[in-house]
Amino acid sequence: MEIRRNGSRPAAPGPARSFSGSVRREAILDAAQPSRLAAGFVTFEPGARTHWHTHPVGQLLIVTGGCGRVGTCGGPVEEVRAGDTIWFGPGEKHWHGAGPDTGMTHVAVTEAENGSAVDWMEPVTEKEFAGG
Ligand code: MN
Repeated sequence: MEIRRNGSRPAAPGPARSFSGSVRREAILDAAQPSRLAAGFVTFEPGARTHWHTHPVGQLLIVTGGCGRVGTCGGPVEEVRAGDTIWFGPGEKHWHGAGPDTGMTHVAVTEAENGSAVDWMEPVTEKEFAGG
């Protein structure tokens, strides 16, 4: 058993190659093998979001604060709020982020396949963020 106390998780900004706007990440877990599990808090300031991306074996999001948006390729933009959970299937192209005027925090839970848990793509445009 390993308890990691609140206050012991260093925060780091989300890199510009993967995120638009102001994003803060705090790792919860990068488990040693044989586990493939990784989890972290991600906080998006208003307007901030991920780039388009996929996860090789899917991703669970648990919205823990605020109100944000999620979108899938060819699908609608959906508003999500604290308490909502979202599952993206393996290889499903998507993005997640804040609302235009509201921040959002989620826990992201992923599993790696061959050492990779995400494949990053192009930024989400303003039109895509707006649902156009
Ligand atoms: Mn994702």
